[in-house]
Amino acid sequence: MSVNHRRAWFSLVVEDPLSNILIKDATIVTMNREDRVIRRGYVRIEEDRIVEVGRASGLKGGGAELVLDGKGQALLPGLISGHTHSGLTLLRGFGEGLDPDKLWETWLWPYERSLRGKDSYASAQLTCLELIKSGVTCFADMHFNMESVAQAVRDSGLRASLSVAMMDSEAAPTTADRSTRENEELVRRWHGKAEGRISCMFGPCTVRTASRELFLKAREMADRYGVGLHIHLSETSRDVQHTVGRYGVRPVKYLHSLGILGDDVLAAHCVHLDREETELLKQSRTNPIHNPSCNAKTGVGMAPVAEMLAKGINVGLGLDAAVCNDSLDMFREMKVGCLLQSVAEGRSYGGILATEALRMCTVNNALALGFGDSIGSVEVGKKADLILVDLVQPHMTPLVWGQTSNLVSNLVYSATGRDVTTVIVDGTMLMRERIVSSLDERAVVEKAGETLERVLSRAGLKP
Ligand SMILES: [Zn+2]
Repeated sequence: MSVNHRRAWFSLVVEDPLSNILIKDATIVTMNREDRVIRRGYVRIEEDRIVEVGRASGLKGGGAELVLDGKGQALLPGLISGHTHSGLTLLRGFGEGLDPDKLWETWLWPYERSLRGKDSYASAQLTCLELIKSGVTCFADMHFNMESVAQAVRDSGLRASLSVAMMDSEAAPTTADRSTRENEELVRRWHGKAEGRISCMFGPCTVRTASRELFLKAREMADRYGVGLHIHLSETSRDVQHTVGRYGVRPVKYLHSLGILGDDVLAAHCVHLDREETELLKQSRTNPIHNPSCNAKTGVGMAPVAEMLAKGINVGLGLDAAVCNDSLDMFREMKVGCLLQSVAEGRSYGGILATEALRMCTVNNALALGFGDSIGSVEVGKKADLILVDLVQPHMTPLVWGQTSNLVSNLVYSATGRDVTTVIVDGTMLMRERIVSSLDERAVVEKAGETLERVLSRAGLKP
């Protein structure tokens, strides 16, 4: 089928949204408690939910408005990024060779000061497009102009947890009052909106950019509104030096003593931890989000993921910003995460097995974002957030079945986001045969380029 034919066919489908989809003959990687894989399976979707999962041999009747042939494809729960900054995607590829602090001073602060709502919308649209095209169906996002980001998420059809980067340090492009007000407005206007696809958190940014008072204010408001916190924690050794110098204790102990940590906290990075801190993360049931590509590129160090997983801590996986990762592809992130942990541990498969990497960006992230009951696995009653991955390709061959299968290993080490063919969120098909229905791909890409030029010129920055 030509691209034009596919596009025409697809536009017919999306103009008349389907409420009943049957995917059959797929290899289903359920990510349920038993990590069950169904070799020839089917999934039936009604409205926004999965209503049947089983072996093809047990399939009774058709009755679907659309039947998708899943032969030669793996059906997985949609991937989730536990930490992202969609407003920074326009800075992809900038700041080569700069350490994180220098990158911030040189590019990020001036860029962020010049960023307007419609610029953030364009950057978020680009992010949503890239995420859909690589099989990410849900992401946790933190930045400025989050009202515009919420609009972009709503328009894209994706699911997200959004928070404002709350800061009050001298160099920050915002203030305590402004960022608190904006985050509260975001929660009031958007929590539970877009058919329930958007939820919100409060986002006290880091121990260096948000004061003790701002962290306490964010916790108080999160409790009042019944939402979580999205923070950066112990990303760099300077974060540790800062809290030890100012408060006499390391960052995790500092935030724990303030009552900030808990099972509703997404704590991005958690690179520099001592044993007492990992114990505090476990006790408080805080959710560390590992961002391996970003940590490797910025050279901040390796999070003790193997140790945290061994302790039973719910560790998730995140993409962080395109300015320090460059590729918003969770398949690559899984691979980099596994490889780096082996290097750090000095042994093969040093702490993250392929199945664990897949758990980190499905069930673990779902729990971390507060969606543990509704997404993260292919199970009856859960939301229909699903992806199909093409297995019939040279780099995914051979696929071996027996006492052990190399399927999950191939998905983690051999696949990339470009192998995703189909994306369904909340029962709505956002991509089929790599044609995205909710966004005009070309227009989004062109607008992103034009927007960056405008923002850089406003900021007086030269690429
Ligand atoms: Zn971040």
